[in-house]
Formats: sequence, structure tokens, C-alpha cells
Amino acid sequence: MNHVIPLKFNNNITLTVKREDLLHPHISGNKFRKLKYNILQAKAEGKTALLTFGGAFSNHIAATAAAGKEYNFATIGIIRGEELAHKIADNPTLTFAQQCGMQLHFITREAYKNKTEPDFIANLIQQFGDFYLLPEGGTNDLAVKGCEEILDANDANFTHVCCAVGTGGTIAGIINSAAEGQKVLGFPALKGAGLLNDICKFAPKGNWELVEDYHFGGYGKVTEELILFINDFYVKTGILLDPVYTAKLFFGVIDLVNKGWFAPNSNILLIHTGGLQGIAGMNKELIRKKLPIIKS
Ligand SMILES: *Cc1c(COP(=O)(O)O)cnc(C)c1O
Repeated sequence: MNHVIPLKFNNNITLTVKREDLLHPHISGNKFRKLKYNILQAKAEGKTALLTFGGAFSNHIAATAAAGKEYNFATIGIIRGEELAHKIADNPTLTFAQQCGMQLHFITREAYKNKTEPDFIANLIQQFGDFYLLPEGGTNDLAVKGCEEILDANDANFTHVCCAVGTGGTIAGIINSAAEGQKVLGFPALKGAGLLNDICKFAPKGNWELVEDYHFGGYGKVTEELILFINDFYVKTGILLDPVYTAKLFFGVIDLVNKGWFAPNSNILLIHTGGLQGIAGMNKELIRKKLPIIKS
């Protein structure tokens, strides 16, 4: 569903939001797209469990847990940070995942770095039995295929398609299905490193660019300015943004529009990839740091 932002911008520029956040109440936005063909593949292979990796506030962990419940898979979440094992009740994401039936397994940050090593995976199979493996963030070929379905034929008239970037799987799908002449802009939510290669691996076309100036200090980092932007945008448009990904994207695009970066009459589509489950956990952090909280 596309939703025109009811605000006036310079140079007759229009911003429209694709509300992927409304796809499903718990399998959020792009995570739904990324899981779709992986779930079908897991069923086709006769698997009964999904195993994946993530941090304390991971949208991918929450979405995988909810998908397991809905599509009848056992789910196992390998979580970064041993100290969290005793704090599940304080963490809305992990509490939700556990309530969906996900078995949480906490490992040290050191061990977590080995998560793609064959020995490490072999150990997990010994411990948990057979499973369908989803990588951290859920990005693989089938995830990119699912993200190719974000854009549809009605979106061909947009001059630009803008999305947040984590692992790069979502933007790869968008790049692959963008219309001729359309420019895809990715806004990394983290400090660069290696993203370009990852995206090129899944999306060989040249119709895209990364805008790396709006990570706000890095992954999961926020500033007071960003929180105030989220609250102001919600009051003005009724659209709630998540602090980790979509707020940085929307802030960046609006800032670039105001600076005259886009040509007059640009018709820009922003992808709202969801992630709203992370707000509860972020608000706990914000209270601890005596910063304003996200209102909804
Ligand atoms: C995971 C996520 C992203 C990043 O997707 P990638 O495919 O990893 O680049 C963007 N937005 C939201 C809300 C997410 O949860």
C-alpha cells in the first residue's frame, strides 16, 4: 500500500511511503519478504525447525519466532551476548520471541563471530538436531527473491526508490526489480564496511547508490535529534518510524530534499520496512539515558 506524505516540499517534490510495515502484525515488513521463500524451501526440504542468529533487539529474531509459530516450525535463536540470558524479562524483543516458542540460546560476543564457520554450525546441529539455517539478518538468495516483490508494476513512475540498508538483502531485491531509469538509493543504518560487495553479489545492476551520511553514529545508535524527528513526523503524518532503520532513512531523504539534492519534480518512493517492535526496547534505553522517548 502506497501512502503520499501530506507535507509540502521544495521544488514540487513528492514523497510517497510504501507501507511494508502493515504487511503482517508480527512478521514485520522486509523480514516477511525475506522469510517467505525460505519458509517454502524449509517445508520442501521437510525441515521442522528454523535456526537463526541475532542481537538483543533484532527484528529478524522477532520475525523468525513469529513465522515459526504461524507456519509450524520449532525455532532456535542464537543470541549475541551471554549476559542477556538473565535479562529476558527486561527485553521486549526476547520476551516476544520466547512467547512465540523460540528457544533462546545465548553465546558470548567472541563465539558469535564464528557463526558462519562450518565447525560452529556442526556443533549447533549436534546440540539442536537438524534445522533450516537462516543467516543473521536473514539475507540469502531466497530472501533477495522475496524482496524483489516489494516493488510492483504501479511503482514504475517513481524517479527514486529509497530504502534503509542493514545487510543489503532488501536493497538488492529492490535493485533487481526497479524499473528502467529508476534510481535506487540505500541509506545504511550502520557504518559502511563491506556492504557494497554484498549488494553487488546479489544485484549486479548499476542503477543504485548508497548515501552513507545518515547512520547517526552507527548501528542501533540514536541522537536526541533523531528521536524528536520520529515524534514530529508521527504527529504530522500518522506514520510511526523505527529508530534503527526507517527513521534514519526518512530523516536522510527529507534532509536531502531540503538541501536541493534531488532534481525538481522528483517523485520519490520511500520503503517503510517495518521494525516497530524495536521501539519498546529502545524506549527503555532512552529512559535510562534520560533522553526523550518515542511516542505513539
Ligand atoms: C532488517 C531491517 C532492514 C535492513 O534490511 P537488510 O536486508 O538487512 O538490508 C531495514 N529496515 C528494517 C525495519 C529492518 O528490520
